[in-house]
Amino acid sequence: MVQRTASCVCGQLQIDVQGETLGAGVCHCLACQQRTGSVFAALAGYAAPFTVRGKATEFVRTGDQGTAFRFRFCPVCGSTVFHTMEGNDAFVMVAVGAFADPHFPAPQDSVYECRRHAWVQLPKSIVRYDKDPPE
Ligand SMILES: [Zn+2]
Ligand SMILES: [Zn+2]
Repeated sequence: MVQRTASCVCGQLQIDVQGETLGAGVCHCLACQQRTGSVFAALAGYAAPFTVRGKATEFVRTGDQGTAFRFRFCPVCGSTVFHTMEGNDAFVMVAVGAFADPHFPAPQDSVYECRRHAWVQLPKSIVRYDKDPPE
């Protein structure tokens, strides 16, 4: 089975995930822009089990649809590494950049297109949502 490790830039906080991603996407919402310091977030979902090493600082944010997410970032270097849906550890969303793998598969979904910087160009085949996709 495929196993991947995502890491913060200093290496203190790491997560191992197994199998193929359940799906990858980008989010252009303003919270993701501020959270990452970039102009959009790239995320990949994985089913449990997953293994975390190192210490994480946590921040809980409630999205527009009322779902709370618990973000984990490294207290040493500040990298955002992964997050889970509050009360649901059945899967984890990993920051694609934390894999440090330029060959990681392209995302299928693009959400919060209403906040996308106009210069950001994505694959033609990507599925676009103006805000959060319907549940
Ligand atoms: Zn770190
Ligand atoms: Zn977002």
